[in-house]
Amino acid sequence: MRRAVCPGSFDPIHNGHLEVIARAAGLFDEVIVGVSTNYAKKYRFSLDERIDMAKETLASLQGIIVEPVGEGLLAEYCRRRGVSAIVKGLRSSSDFDYELPMATMNRQLTGVETVFLPAEGHYVHLSSTLIKEVFTLGGNVSEFVPRSVLKRLHSGEPVREQVRRG
Ligand code: ADP
Repeated sequence: MRRAVCPGSFDPIHNGHLEVIARAAGLFDEVIVGVSTNYAKKYRFSLDERIDMAKETLASLQGIIVEPVGEGLLAEYCRRRGVSAIVKGLRSSSDFDYELPMATMNRQLTGVETVFLPAEGHYVHLSSTLIKEVFTLGGNVSEFVPRSVLKRLHSGEPVREQVRRG
């Protein structure tokens, strides 16, 4: 059983993510959409919301699990969960430059491989940040995000990631 993870913050999940996740599902028996949280970052949506949006959007697809990856090393998470490959979409050479050292480090840490999939031309310009900016300035992003994300974007005030105490 070959299991892969598509990691990211998914703040929010968009059609570029979905396209890569669907292609990963064609290559592996099981794909985990691993939702990460970096407590130094400010998110538009809480971890629970980011997970819910991914679950709502991917509910009809077989062999896809959505779960948090936690705060530790992704390579350790992969070992714990029996994940043999990390799947990443590449939009540009700068994505590649950023991802390559992490891929090599992850392989050296626990042996987990990274598989790069070239982003689909139609979605190559998409990032969660750009979508949020366009939406905030009144642009129509319905072509770029699933319906459940559009609904949440329209439904009010930003929800900040809860700061862990103690
Ligand atoms: P981050 O965790 O750096 O905030 P994201 O949550 O935005 O990243 O995205 C997670 C992963 O999804 C990225 O590392 C990249 O592999 C992939 N990805 C993001 N946007 C696209 C896109 N438009 N097309 C293909 N893959 C993408």
